[in-house]
Amino acid sequence: MSTKTFTIVGAGQAGLQLGIALLGDGHAVSIVSNRTPVEIAEGKVTSSQCMFDTAQSYERELGLNFWDEITPPVEGIAFTVPHPAGDGTKALDWAGRLDAVARSVDQRVKMPRWIDEFIARGGEFVIGDAGVDDLERYAASSDLVLVAAGKGEIARLFERDAEKSPYDAPQRALALTYVNGLTPRAEHSAVAFNLIPGVGEYFVFPALTTTGPCEIMVFEAVPGGPMDLWKPGMTPEEHLATSLHVLETFVPWEAERARDVTLTDDNGVLAGRFPPTVRRPIATLPSGATVLGLADVVVLNDPITGQGSNNASKCAESYLTSIREEAAAGGAFDDAFKQGAFDRYWENAQHVTRWTNALLAPPPPFVLEVLGAAGQFPEIAHRFANGFDDPRDYGTWFLDPEGSATYVREVAERAGVGA
Ligand SMILES: Cc1cc2nc3c(=O)[nH]c(=O)nc-3n(C[C@H](O)[C@H](O)[C@H](O)COP(=O)(O)OP(=O)(O)OC[C@H]3O[C@@H](n4cnc5c(N)ncnc54)[C@H](O)[C@@H]3O)c2cc1C
Repeated sequence: MSTKTFTIVGAGQAGLQLGIALLGDGHAVSIVSNRTPVEIAEGKVTSSQCMFDTAQSYERELGLNFWDEITPPVEGIAFTVPHPAGDGTKALDWAGRLDAVARSVDQRVKMPRWIDEFIARGGEFVIGDAGVDDLERYAASSDLVLVAAGKGEIARLFERDAEKSPYDAPQRALALTYVNGLTPRAEHSAVAFNLIPGVGEYFVFPALTTTGPCEIMVFEAVPGGPMDLWKPGMTPEEHLATSLHVLETFVPWEAERARDVTLTDDNGVLAGRFPPTVRRPIATLPSGATVLGLADVVVLNDPITGQGSNNASKCAESYLTSIREEAAAGGAFDDAFKQGAFDRYWENAQHVTRWTNALLAPPPPFVLEVLGAAGQFPEIAHRFANGFDDPRDYGTWFLDPEGSATYVREVAERAGVGA
């Protein structure tokens, strides 16, 4: 196999994972980043990045799982709905164990270390905010240019695919609050997911940050609703106070766990919103040269299902497979290749997008029924939890009225209970 030249714009989960894998295959790889490793490490948090086993397995294969021993594991998914009476009790409350633990390593910890690793393994790391002229240069000197710039402006070069993007406005106002001192869940650690109908969602789980183990609070507020309270320019203290106020108002059991929390650091907070967007995978530059988008650039989902970093890892792995096949066949990385690489990734990613977009809408009765049944039958809770690792599973039951009714009936029969 001959050596090829790749340029990747963006040093995030997808760009670095793919870049390091391509180096391992003997290719020449440049990664362009608009932030230095120090700027990433000393900047604001960007994500809650809880990664399930499949996504972690790709990191393990590349020897990039440097934090497994020191990252507190996420052992399950817990699901709670407050009672509609608003009396501080719970209408639904159950948990399912993950077959393999999930882990969240702050991107401020992970990306600078991966950049060091990329350079140590022979990669060329370039600091710069890549624009169209830069892409032209890279396209002229590389066999393939990949744009892995996440939510960066440059993603707009890729046309929005209206058919695959049902929403054209943000569906949630997001806030992240990294804390220490949260009381652990009693049974086992978990993403403790609270769904507050009409108001939003709150989930919290253990993670590793720049100062060591922590817990990450994620707030997903319905825009303009009573939880949409984080304002631009808030101080970190105001951000934390708003977070605690929301917990006391809507999920008092979570406020109880958070009674003694402090921020991990002044940069452990984030607030923002964006529309979930699927884009066409190929952007054509003024010269006619084309570049290929990957991960969030082409499939940007709302974080409500915590899948973005998982998808970034899966996209990098899927593109790696396509690149290996093309390189082995002596191919030219042309537009047919680019479209084919995306289509292969979309085969999986479409299920994540469908599930994520469904959770942004008010749940239909059959979803409420299956979520209720999960409280009665641990088998359903277990299946729901493990779907986070492979969301393709939800299509046949969680997202399908007939499939879910059949599934709940079968589980009930097996348990000897009439459903
Ligand atoms: C609030 C929130 C919570 C989240 N929680 C989770 C979760 O629990 N689990 C999960 O799996 N995912 C989660 N995500 C999503 C996840 O963080 C992203 O999907 C993932 O990081 C995307 O990886 P990426 O490589 O595509 O892009 P990114 O990680 O965004 O990396 C892109 C990089 O490109 C750089 N860049 C941008 N433009 C340019 C340019 N022009 N030139 C050079 N460099 C450029 C950026 O600075 C950045 O370093 C969350 C996201 C948010 C916002």
